[in-house]
Amino acid sequence: MSTDSPVGSHRVVSPTGVLPQAADKLDTNPQIADSEARVSVERLNLDAASYRQLHAAHGGDGAAIRAEVLGIIERRGKMHNPATGSGGMLIGTVDEVGPRSPLGLKPGQKIATLVSLTLTPLAITDGLARWNGLGEQVPASGHAILFARSIAAVLPEHLPEALALAVFDVCGAPALVRRVVARRAPSQTTVAVLGAAGKSGSLSLAAARDARAATTLGIVRDEAEAARLEQTGLAARIAVADATDPIALSGAVTDALGGRGADVTVVCVDVPGCEHGAILSTTTGGTVVFFSMATSFPSAALGAEGLAADVEMLIGNGYVPGHADYALQLVAAHPELENLFAERTEARA
Ligand code: NAP
Repeated sequence: MSTDSPVGSHRVVSPTGVLPQAADKLDTNPQIADSEARVSVERLNLDAASYRQLHAAHGGDGAAIRAEVLGIIERRGKMHNPATGSGGMLIGTVDEVGPRSPLGLKPGQKIATLVSLTLTPLAITDGLARWNGLGEQVPASGHAILFARSIAAVLPEHLPEALALAVFDVCGAPALVRRVVARRAPSQTTVAVLGAAGKSGSLSLAAARDARAATTLGIVRDEAEAARLEQTGLAARIAVADATDPIALSGAVTDALGGRGADVTVVCVDVPGCEHGAILSTTTGGTVVFFSMATSFPSAALGAEGLAADVEMLIGNGYVPGHADYALQLVAAHPELENLFAERTEARA
């Protein structure tokens, strides 16, 4: 391959003219171009919204989930769930690095990709035989291709791989929360996190505290999650509410925050239908961060208009400079996050 593009457009099979993320199918040829790197794959981390959709669609039948994931990868040359539009990321060992790759990787390094599986050429060679289909983390053999504009992080030696992979998958959330809180007056900023006992939710709470937000409120879906979150000490306040029920959610948020909405609401729930509740829970002039991949743009935009809600709405871009290191710093500062992540990365039976 000689005409390689830094953004990987030379790997798009169809349709022509789009970038790899929007492609139906990518070329997974293991022969790398000068600006590429090839990674020997060891484990995939499926995005939470994608895994939840697959689990529901197959009624929790692990063999059927595995067959579908394998089918998607074979058909598309990437793990891009057509139902949710989301992917995940992977860990593996660097195999070969092209002479013009700017990523600074060396063969033999164990890395995590920090770009989505929805744009990463991926071929599986073991039929996912070591995965029972019942969990977001997928032991796998095969290869993946990184472009010049991909990002990857060398895996930290002190953390278990499964934990590092899960942390890196959602590391855009805490970095964005820190940025959003820091640009307001933190000491007057209240932060509500929906799905607060989850991976991105708990890291977002830790980031809000780190940014010295006035108070943090964790919204969880039941008492069991409330107890789990309470143990971490990450949320100043905790309330139980269904994030897909706008009236119940906004009532719970305003009750917990003394009669007003949150200045910053962060949506870290992995199911659809949280847009209106998040908007209603946010005070005038506040910000809603939609980190969830299950977010609908029309529902958010039209919902805000229909409620005459003057709120800023941010799409949770998974990339913020320094996001991976910052997430690792938060995990080091809050060892309780490790337990919470460990529970979450175990099989969802
Ligand atoms: P997670 O660890 O599974 O956390 C999601 C949390 O939401 C869980 O605690 C879940 O509770 C809770 N929840 C589910 N339904 C709820 C409801 N109706 N009301 C209140 N809480 C509810 O997921 P994650 O890995 O943090 O991912 C969260 C979202 O971020 C997903 O949509 C994922 O796709 C997305 N994501 C985005 C990016 C990006 O770049 N923007 C990157 C990675 C992931 P249960 O477990 O009890 O159901």
